[in-house]
Amino acid sequence: MTSKSDATETASEQTLPEIVARPAPPVTELSQGFWDAVQNEQLAIQKCAACDLLRHYPQPLCPSCHSNEFGWQPVSGRGEIYSYTVAHRAFHPAWQQHVPYVIATIELEEGIRMVCDLLEADPDRIAIGQRVEVAFAELPGQGRMPRFEVID
Ligand SMILES: [Zn+2]
Repeated sequence: MTSKSDATETASEQTLPEIVARPAPPVTELSQGFWDAVQNEQLAIQKCAACDLLRHYPQPLCPSCHSNEFGWQPVSGRGEIYSYTVAHRAFHPAWQQHVPYVIATIELEEGIRMVCDLLEADPDRIAIGQRVEVAFAELPGQGRMPRFEVID
């Protein structure tokens, strides 16, 4: 139980949230091609060298033909919101300053789906089917990262 004096004291001690850098994504031998493309402001998806199947996230074996040979296919970076949710609690302190914010599954024109936060999107105006396009930004703690922006 909280007394009135405790509530007043808590309110006076509130400060703006400390801005914390985002954790850097792990770059592995398997994902290196994705991150190399990002450095050149391109979105590239893993492509099976045997059957040409595109796949994301990077995986060691093709789920269709089981080949372990692959390359990287530059893609359009355009797509639409396949699904989304609005986060009202940050899962990491670096996102605290953005709540509430949108986390969306993006379906690229090439049929590949990827998950991304849409920190600039208005949670009250987001909708399934909205068109999005990739952009690249330098983010504290992460370096150059692909970002999706709503374009309609
Ligand atoms: Zn394959």
